[in-house]
Amino acid sequence: MSSAVSTARPQAVAIPVAETLPWLIGAVVVGLILYYFIGIDQGALSVFGGDTHIHEFVHDARHFLGFPCH
Ligand SMILES: [Zn+2]
Repeated sequence: MSSAVSTARPQAVAIPVAETLPWLIGAVVVGLILYYFIGIDQGALSVFGGDTHIHEFVHDARHFLGFPCH
């Protein structure tokens, strides 16, 4: 029985910025949209005024995350 010890070292993987940049930008845009609808969208600032109440839909999340509401 041999007790070979692996001496292989992990190699760093190069990730080109050009391939990841669209994903990073997309994640930031989606994050900002979510942030807006959960934390800011209400009253006169509401994007979808009228009968569409996104504020009411995310109301519990808004309180849970500590955004000022009412
Ligand atoms: Zn509230």
